[in-house]
Amino acid sequence: MTETATVPATAGSQPEEAGVRTYDVVIVGAGLTGMYQLMLVRKLGLSVRVIEAGSGVGGTWYWNAYPGARLDSESYSYQYSWDKELLDEWSWKEMFAGQPELEAYYNRVADKYDLRRDIDFDTRIESMTFDEEANTWTLRSTEGGAYCARVVIAATGILSDPNFPRIPGLENFKGEWHHTSLWPKDKDVSFEGKRVAVIGTGATGVQVIPKVAETAGHLTVFQRTANWAVPLRNRPLSDEDMAEIRAGYDDMFPHLRNTFSGFLHSWDPIKSTEVSPEERDARYLEAWNSPGFTKWIGLYNDLAYDADANKIYCAFLADKIRERVNDKELAEKLVPDDHLFGTKRVPCETNYYETYNKENVDLVLLKEDPILEFTENGIRTEAGELEVDMIILATGFDAFTGALNKIDIRGLGGQTLRESWQNGPHTYLGMQVAGFPNLFIEGGPHGKGGHGNGPRCSEPVVEWVTKVVDDIFTNDWKRVEADPVAQDTWTKSVTDTAAGTLQASAKSIFFGDNIPGKPRVYVAYIGSLPEFVQRLEDARDNDYEGFLVS
Ligand code: NAP
Repeated sequence: MTETATVPATAGSQPEEAGVRTYDVVIVGAGLTGMYQLMLVRKLGLSVRVIEAGSGVGGTWYWNAYPGARLDSESYSYQYSWDKELLDEWSWKEMFAGQPELEAYYNRVADKYDLRRDIDFDTRIESMTFDEEANTWTLRSTEGGAYCARVVIAATGILSDPNFPRIPGLENFKGEWHHTSLWPKDKDVSFEGKRVAVIGTGATGVQVIPKVAETAGHLTVFQRTANWAVPLRNRPLSDEDMAEIRAGYDDMFPHLRNTFSGFLHSWDPIKSTEVSPEERDARYLEAWNSPGFTKWIGLYNDLAYDADANKIYCAFLADKIRERVNDKELAEKLVPDDHLFGTKRVPCETNYYETYNKENVDLVLLKEDPILEFTENGIRTEAGELEVDMIILATGFDAFTGALNKIDIRGLGGQTLRESWQNGPHTYLGMQVAGFPNLFIEGGPHGKGGHGNGPRCSEPVVEWVTKVVDDIFTNDWKRVEADPVAQDTWTKSVTDTAAGTLQASAKSIFFGDNIPGKPRVYVAYIGSLPEFVQRLEDARDNDYEGFLVS
C-alpha cells in the first residue's frame, strides 16, 4: 500500500459538551503503532485524533534518547513494510540503527503523510470513562483537554511507564540525575570528567554503560542481576548493501510475518543433544560471531525448554565473558548465576564487558551491598557513601500493564481497569477487556509484541483493529467487547503455556518481578506470531467469536 500526503484533515465534529472535542476514533500514543493506526483510520474516512504525551512522534524512539540506545533487530527488518515508496527512498545507515536515526525515520514518516495535523502533542490522557447511554468514551488530559469518541485505541506501548527504584532521597540529590527513558531532548548531557553512577544492567544499562565510560571521570555501575548479554556486531551499511537489501524486501516481509517472533531467523528443529559436542560448539561459536539476534535465537530448539541443554550454552557464554574481562574476580561477578540463557530478555552489547577493563569503571553488587538512600552528594549503600555528580537510572519499566494502569479507565458499571487487573491482567486475545467496550489495546499484556520484533508484531494487529473499527461504523454497532468466558479461557491459556517453560524459572519483567507489589503473573504471549495473528483473524471471520457485539 502506498499512501499520499493529500488525505483531507479529519477535524472533529461539533462538541456536545463545552470544551469536549468529538471524534469517531481516538488513538492514545503516537509511537510506531499509533502512527500506522492513524494512517489506516484516516483511510476509513473516519474522524480521528491521536493524543501523545511527548512533543514528537516515535514513542520508544522519541523517549529513550540516552547515549547508546539502538536496535538489536536489523534496521531493515524493523521498518514499516506497507509503503513501497518509503522502502525505496529510505536508506539505513547502520545494520542496527541508533536512536537518532530511528527518530529521524519516524519524523520522515510523519512529514510524508502529514500526520502531525491529527496529533495533539504534549498531552497526557489521565482518565477515560465509558458512557453507557451514549456508548462513547470521554477522555480527559492532565492539561485540561477533553475528547469524546465511539472507539478508543490504546497504542500506549509495552515499555512506556518508567520504573523508579523505591529508594528514598532522590529529591535530596544536588547533582544531575536522569532516567534513561526520560532522557532530555533539549540539551546535551555531558559525562566529561564527571563522577557518574548507573543503576541497572538490563538491555538499557548494557547500552548506556560503555558510552558513559568513554568520557566520565569515574563510572560506578550498580548491578542487581548480571545478564546474559551477547555481541551486537553492528556495522555501517553501504549503498551496495542497501541495494541488495532492498532487492530482497518482497521476500523478506512475508518471511518475517511467518517467523516465530518476526525476527530474521528460523527455529532449528534439531536438539543440541542430538549432535556431537564439536558440532554443537561450532554452532555456538558461529552464533557468537554473528550480528544481533539472528543466529542465536534460532539455535537448537531445546535451549528453550531443556534446562540441562541450556546450561551447556550458558557455560559457553560464561567462558566468553571470562575471555573479555581481565580481572578474573570481576569477570565472575558479570556471569549470571540465577537464571538460564533467554529466560530474561537477552541484551545485545557493544564493548560492554571490555568497559570493565577500564581504570575509571567500578562495579558494585547490590545483592552484597544494597543501596540505602540517595543523599545530597550521592548514594549511600551499606558499605558507605559514594559521592557522584550524576545518577543514571537504567531501571526499566512497569512493562505491559503500567501505561494503561496509570490512566483511570472506567468501563461498565464504573469498574476500573486497575481493579479488574489487580491480580494480573485479563484480556481476550490481548485486544480487549470484558466490561470495557470499544476499547482496543495494541501492545499491552498478552500481545505478541513483548517477545518479538515491534513493527512486525504491531502491523497485523493494527490492520486487524482497523477491520473491526470498519465493521463497527459500517454496521453502526454500539458495542464490541470481550466475552468474559472467552477472556477467562484465553487468559488461562496464556498463563498456563508460560508456566511450563524455562521462562517461569527466572525473575523478569514478563512476570512483573521488577515491580514491587506487582502480582507474579505472566503478562506476555509466548506462542508464535503467525498463530497469534491467525487467532485474531479466526475470531473475526467466525462471526466475532469470543466477542459480544451489539
Ligand atoms: P530492565 O530489563 O527491566 O532492566 C532494568 C535494570 O535495572 C535491571 O538490571 C534491574 O535489575 C535493575 N533494577 C530495577 N529496579 C532496581 C532497583 N530498585 N534497584 C537496583 N536495580 C534495579 O529494563 P531495560 O534495561 O530498560 O530494558 C527493558 C526492555 O526495554 C527490554 O526488555 C527490551 O525489550 C527493551 N530494550 C530494548 C533495547 C533494544 O531493542 N536494543 C534496548 C533497551 C531496552 P534486575 O534484573 O535485578 O531486576
